[in-house]
Amino acid sequence: MSATLLCFDRDLRLSDRAVFAASEPGSALVPLLILDRRRSERIARNPRRAAYFCAAVAALDAELRLRGSQLLVRRGALDSTIRSVARATGARCVTWSKRYDPAGVREDLRLQAIVEELGLRALPAHEAIALDPERIELDTTEEIGFRSFNAFYRLWRAPGSLRAPIDLGARFTPSVLPSEPLPRPEEFGASPWRDPVGERPARAALDRFVNERLVEYPRAIRTPAVPTSGLGLPLSFGLLSGREVAWSVCKRLEDPFLLAEERAGIERFLRAMARRDFLLLAGTESVPQPEEPLYVRSSMELPTLMEARTGFPLVDAGMRELLATGNMHPTVRAVVASFCCFDLGLDWRTGMESWEGLLAEDEPALAIGNWRSSAGLRIDMHFPRIIDPERQFLRGDPQGRYVRRWLPELALLSDARQIHAWHDRQLALDLFEIERYPRPMLDHRERASAFLARYTAWRAATLPVGGPRSSR
Ligand SMILES: Cc1cc2nc3c(=O)[nH]c(=O)nc-3n(C[C@H](O)[C@H](O)[C@H](O)COP(=O)(O)OP(=O)(O)OC[C@H]3O[C@@H](n4cnc5c(N)ncnc54)[C@H](O)[C@@H]3O)c2cc1C
Repeated sequence: MSATLLCFDRDLRLSDRAVFAASEPGSALVPLLILDRRRSERIARNPRRAAYFCAAVAALDAELRLRGSQLLVRRGALDSTIRSVARATGARCVTWSKRYDPAGVREDLRLQAIVEELGLRALPAHEAIALDPERIELDTTEEIGFRSFNAFYRLWRAPGSLRAPIDLGARFTPSVLPSEPLPRPEEFGASPWRDPVGERPARAALDRFVNERLVEYPRAIRTPAVPTSGLGLPLSFGLLSGREVAWSVCKRLEDPFLLAEERAGIERFLRAMARRDFLLLAGTESVPQPEEPLYVRSSMELPTLMEARTGFPLVDAGMRELLATGNMHPTVRAVVASFCCFDLGLDWRTGMESWEGLLAEDEPALAIGNWRSSAGLRIDMHFPRIIDPERQFLRGDPQGRYVRRWLPELALLSDARQIHAWHDRQLALDLFEIERYPRPMLDHRERASAFLARYTAWRAATLPVGGPRSSR
């Protein structure tokens, strides 16, 4: 019987795997995890990700053992490892999940070259996206979708566009080769992840969300104090597939007793999942990259943001949440990113890198897509959206629940208006030593106007004759 090497990287699960369909019919899979230098260095850069990754790998190994196999772990160079494992198992093919960010795509090409040089067949598969890959081919040839999210969303929601989870069993080889020990958090300078991790806990979380909170998603997304689905973390490590999430959510829409607003809530969530596919697929697009003086690569003001001492309560609360948990409410992410790009005038890459060691989710293509969107630099954007952090605070967190939770200095103030008023008085009179909470580090309106003036000049200099690109 022939064998196929299944290289695990970003999709650490066994259910709903496109790679099973991609692998040679009838062949048995050899589950392989290669920790080469690049991968190990990347994991070690973020202790939270390292802890989550190790827990997810341990859960994957446990699942494989239930199927009479085990994860084969190797620490070493990609080429020599693939060569030796292929030789020892008689494998003729190598399959893996495609990556979407520029560095990941380069890695995939390197892997493909190694595999083909060894005379093996390379079988990469789209695993992360919910959209049927055949629709992508159609889409890219017609050049729609990637330039405009609305066009992409229409395609995504069209009948037959979303693929059902792939219900294919696979045969894994019994553990014929000795494995090196599973990666442990200490190896990367991290502590163990405390909560249960793996495809089973992730699916249980998905079921709970769909049954209990999905219909209220629009309120959650507007309100920093209300958590959103929390599925971003397991999705980013591929413990759940985008297909499975979108499919379970669409199934919920079949309930004839749903109220109109509940349907709207579900559609809103589907739009978020479509945005995920959109940004994953656009991960390698190239757009004009403005340099100084529009954005600067470093600033003496960045540490103040990172220490959550800007004096803008929503921005600081978001940073405290990130520092404490490795997560930040999606709406607050947009506020903090806007502050970073427009108020501090920092290049989006600097902002993204400043979160790199903190954020638990590991989805570089989404980090890139969202930071570029925040800076107004995606191909489908025509103007930056500068968010007023004070106005957003009054609108999204009127009772100050989120801000008071993360900024205990302000816990005695009863709501956002009081915090806001206190803030103004402090500016004028500097009376309130009690709170030890800093004054705003800058004037938002002044910074926003200065940025817009620079931006308008830059656009005028870079736009092709004929005005802005139109989105379809
Ligand atoms: C500046 C900035 C940086 C971000 N960096 C990352 C990142 O590094 N990694 C990452 O996975 N996400 C990133 N996001 C996207 C989004 O904030 C997270 O996916 C979301 O917060 C995850 O939490 P959740 O699962 O509770 O989200 P929910 O609101 O419950 O959304 C459900 C799912 O939809 C998808 N989704 C929702 N919003 C977006 C979006 N804006 N872009 C793409 N997919 C989306 C995600 O898969 C998410 O899990 C970033 C957003 C911003 C504004």
